[in-house]
Order: sequence, then structure tokens, then C-alpha cells
Amino acid sequence: MNKKDAVKIVETLKEMYPDAKCSLDFSTPFEMLVSVVLSAQCTDERVNKTTPNIFNKYSTPQDFANMDIKLLEELIHPCGFYKTKAKNLKKTAEILVEKYDGIVPNNMKDLMSLPGVGRKSANVIMLEAFNSPQGIAVDTHCKRIANRLGFSKESEPEKIEQDLLKVIPKEYYKDVNHIFIWHGRNVCTSQKPKCDSCKLQQYCKFYKYNKYL
Ligand code: SF4
Repeated sequence: MNKKDAVKIVETLKEMYPDAKCSLDFSTPFEMLVSVVLSAQCTDERVNKTTPNIFNKYSTPQDFANMDIKLLEELIHPCGFYKTKAKNLKKTAEILVEKYDGIVPNNMKDLMSLPGVGRKSANVIMLEAFNSPQGIAVDTHCKRIANRLGFSKESEPEKIEQDLLKVIPKEYYKDVNHIFIWHGRNVCTSQKPKCDSCKLQQYCKFYKYNKYL
């Protein structure tokens, strides 16, 4: 993939999804962090249905650090993997209170040192909570689209992100984080992608390969 085609693809996706944005609801960096942790192996829709009940009463690192772990497990139960997520969220809240004066750090290194926050989540938090995208969050949609369009042949998210960053200019990081996910949800779905209605056919390795089989 060359930079020229990469920009054309991103521009085309921006036209296809002018309203693409983060679909998690939050009002503070800490709420964003909690929502991102809960969204692992869970839909954003389910997270959004679960968090209002929590954030109404518990919305700060102090609240989470002081909360009984059993109560936290109960509150986040609908999002799945509730024991691990509760443990990580409580530990993260304790670290934020003890080490960061109760403030979510706004850099990748410190974010990635928090339990349950990997590179993908840190990228999402930097973009959505601090409006400062540092890279591209590679989730299942981004991975599939990057592979199909020919941005990357890799399967590991970190390597796919590096391939994307080589050809996508920094000013597009924000857009790419949203439009790849929307394209994956709406058109380039895992099973039966809607290639006939996709405007990226001319660039797509997956499409060309299947067309000439
Ligand atoms: S042409 Fe098909 S496989 Fe390629 S990006 Fe579009 S929907 Fe996905």
C-alpha cells in the first residue's frame, strides 16, 4: 500500500461515513476509561446500557477505589468477564488515586501501565478523552479491513498498527479510528461483506482476489 492510495481510501471512507464517531457514552476521562475496559469482549451498546446505572453513583477513581469488589462485580455483570474487569477497574482506580492524584494520565505509557488497559484501549482513551490521537486502535474491524484492503498482511494488532501508521498521515488518525470501525460494522462485515455497494473495490485486494477466482 502506498501513501497516495492510503489517503484516497481514507478520504472515500470519510465520505461514506461523515458522522462516524465513538459509540461509547462518557462524560469524563475516567468514565471513558471504565467504558473502554468494559467494552472488551462486549458490545458498545451493552456497555452504554450498563454504565448509567454505575456512573449515577460512582464516577470517580475515588468512588471505584472505595467500592466493595462484590458490588462492582454485580454492577458490571452484564458486560461479561465481570470478575477480571472488576479486579482491573478497582486496581486501576487505586493506582490513579495513589499515583496520579485521582487523574487519568494523558499519555500512552502511563495508560498502558494500568491493569486492563492495553495499547488499543490507550489509543481510544487518548483520542476520545483527550482529543489527542497517538495512533490507531486496532480492533477486530480495523484488523479485518486493514488485511482485506492490503494495508497489512500481519495478524498481530501492534504490527498492523505499525503498517497503518507508515502510510496514513497523522492528521487522519482521528478519522481512521472511527471510519474503519463503521465500515466494518456496516459494509465490510466479517461474513458476507457487501462488496457490491462498497466504494473501495478498486483498491481492495480481497475484492480483486475473489472477483478473479
Ligand atoms: S470491497 Fe468488499 S472486502 Fe473490500 S473493503 Fe469493500 S466491502 Fe470490504
